[in-house]
Amino acid sequence: MDDGTPLQSASDSPDEKQVVRCAACESALRSPGRGSLSFLLLDGLTVPLVGCDDHLEEFRALCGLATDGPADLLDHRPAGGVNCPSCRHAPQQPRQRVIPVGNGGLAVLACETHQSDVFSRFRTGLRVREHLTDSIDAASTDP
Ligand SMILES: [Zn+2]
Ligand SMILES: [Zn+2]
Repeated sequence: MDDGTPLQSASDSPDEKQVVRCAACESALRSPGRGSLSFLLLDGLTVPLVGCDDHLEEFRALCGLATDGPADLLDHRPAGGVNCPSCRHAPQQPRQRVIPVGNGGLAVLACETHQSDVFSRFRTGLRVREHLTDSIDAASTDP
């Protein structure tokens, strides 16, 4: 029984401002019911996410840049379910990390391990995208 053990919360950036300017994301985050849960399938992970369709798709595309395999988005629980037991319970936990995506934000309802897994891929994806944009624009940025 580990019920009485307080979980150590990730406190690397407790004051990080989570600005969600997308109304659709915001309303999804406010009521993360079963209907608004989506699932990102990536590198064998099944990660429950909450957010609006547009930003979920952007998030999926960015994570896809950071992996060789496919990154798929489901708007329903996958047939096999969520294979990590800790992730399976994560949606019931009150504290969720919100990842800013564009002007919106997504909640990643996974265990700490898989949250940081997904987050690191997302950040890699952002860098890859910046790099791609840079090389395309490089020739025309100087006035
Ligand atoms: Zn949104
Ligand atoms: Zn997990």
